[in-house]
Amino acid sequence: MFLAGKNALVTGSTSGIGLAIARALRDEGASVVLNGFGDEAEIAKLCEELDARWINTDLTTVEGAEELMAGAGGVDILVNNAGMQHVAPVEDFPVDKWNKIIALNLSSAFHTARLAVPHMKAAGWGRIINTASAHSTTASPFKAAYVAAKHGIAGLTKTLALELARENITANCISPGYVWTPLVENQIPDTMASRGLTREQVINDVLLERQPTKKFAQPEDVAALAVFLCRDVAQNITGANYEIDGGWTAQ
Ligand code: NAD
Repeated sequence: MFLAGKNALVTGSTSGIGLAIARALRDEGASVVLNGFGDEAEIAKLCEELDARWINTDLTTVEGAEELMAGAGGVDILVNNAGMQHVAPVEDFPVDKWNKIIALNLSSAFHTARLAVPHMKAAGWGRIINTASAHSTTASPFKAAYVAAKHGIAGLTKTLALELARENITANCISPGYVWTPLVENQIPDTMASRGLTREQVINDVLLERQPTKKFAQPEDVAALAVFLCRDVAQNITGANYEIDGGWTAQ
């Protein structure tokens, strides 16, 4: 229970990777603030299970990020994880989707970080963990906004690491390849449509095409690394971008 007394905020934690991270931080004693959308009754159950608070704000807006941070109180562990995807050729890429993906996958992390850092500095300890992606260092066609946002968050993370290096606050990215979550499952129909493929072809030939292990990672794999980054032994790990991508970016 090495995180007892720490307040952890995990954005996008009503599902998938964020939920696994929230659970893992809670298992180590942190108090947890959940954020994200979903069925209210199911989220109420999650709050009970994790003894957590849920602050349901839309992080595609600056106001949503500010309201979240005001409600969360002093955040010791900030996990910027909320994200969305849209798959389309660049000439057909809807402008509102571009704006939303940049706002959620990149700008919300800037807003939460700028509002979390004063407390972390005052406390003399902090951890910022950003869920990036293999798409933070590589690209795929038809994912213009996602790839741009994920490259952006990798750069933001490095800047935070340098600015906060003397404050006992670390900032790191975790960059999964494909993790089996609703975000991945939900992009299958769009990819089937944009490339004219079957579901099996999308899974084997598109999603796992570049993942040499040919295995999806699990949300718990990502959560375990997030917990490690909170440990004292990780105090000198900052500005790093850890891939959990089955060898994708080794190629
Ligand atoms: P998911 O769809 O299961 O979860 C996304 C979470 O973000 C949910 O809690 C959702 O409610 C929340 N969310 C969506 N829009 C929001 C908004 N406007 N404001 C606040 N919250 C919002 O997705 P996931 O697969 O668990 O992805 C989590 C993160 O991991 C994302 O940043 C994603 O880009 C990244 N990632 C996922 C994979 C993967 O294969 N699943 C791979 C690499 C990176």
